[in-house]
Amino acid sequence: MKNVELNADLHCHSSQSDGVLAPRELALRAARQGVQIWSLTDHDELSGLMTAGAVASEQGLQFVPGVEISVIWMNRTIHIVGLNIDPANAQLVTGLEDIRLRRGERARAMGDKLEKLGFAGCYEGALSYASNALLLSRTHFARFMLEQGYCSRLQQVFDLYLGEGKPGFVGAQWASLEQALGWIHASGGVAVVAHPGRYRLSSNQFDALFDAFRDLGGDAIEVVTGSHYPAQYLEYANVARRYGFLASRGSDFHSPGESRIDLGQLPQLPPGLDPVWSAWL
Ligand code: AMP
Ligand code: MN
Ligand code: MN
Ligand code: MN
Repeated sequence: MKNVELNADLHCHSSQSDGVLAPRELALRAARQGVQIWSLTDHDELSGLMTAGAVASEQGLQFVPGVEISVIWMNRTIHIVGLNIDPANAQLVTGLEDIRLRRGERARAMGDKLEKLGFAGCYEGALSYASNALLLSRTHFARFMLEQGYCSRLQQVFDLYLGEGKPGFVGAQWASLEQALGWIHASGGVAVVAHPGRYRLSSNQFDALFDAFRDLGGDAIEVVTGSHYPAQYLEYANVARRYGFLASRGSDFHSPGESRIDLGQLPQLPPGLDPVWSAWL
């Protein structure tokens, strides 16, 4: 089988961040869904990698240790995935610890802000969905607010309250682009711009982002992801070719009930791209 035809899924989340399945369940599901090369990429967290890797190996699934790092670039949140990282690397470990402290403080501020909007108990409620108070994300708040009946769909919680610029949104000083790439490269990994199609940037801002990423030694972008519409696969395939970036593929799976695309179910990369996973086979 050619590299490009392998069923690669290099982006998803476990209950160690804002996914619902434990690392073990997620690895078993990836195997069952026919994934052949798999990465767990929890937000700002590495604690699921050991179990995920062990279960993946038992299942005959090639495992790539990963992480999805929260970055602030030009005052916008951007996600940078690190693949084939060394989870023991001190720079990466300390950098992520620092982000998690900010995440914990930001969650308290979000709870206070939502309280003032008339939604009581959101911090504790979000916490009941999370495994670690330092990994509370907007997803946990959204699950609680949905359960309380404040909205009828998860997406609506983001559209009305938690999306950037909405009344319940609280920003945070995540890592800089330079720091995130520095940690990923220091740990021997490859840096990937996650779901570029999700960022609300002008075309000049997109150029500036990809220029900055390339100038800092960035390696790849996600082309086929559960966070893109099919039309965006071709759009970002063109970006990858234009900038000489490797191309990645990942479902961004969070939960069976919530995610549009399950593990291993995405279409193949468009032709004429270099898959980011070629080097690891
Ligand atoms: P945070 O890192 O705490 O700002 O939370 C970001 C997470 O919220 C992302 O990783 C997604 O899982 C989720 N998210 C962000 N925007 C949306 C949206 N519009 N609909 C559903 N989930 C979203
Ligand atoms: Mn998430
Ligand atoms: Mn993301
Ligand atoms: Mn993700």
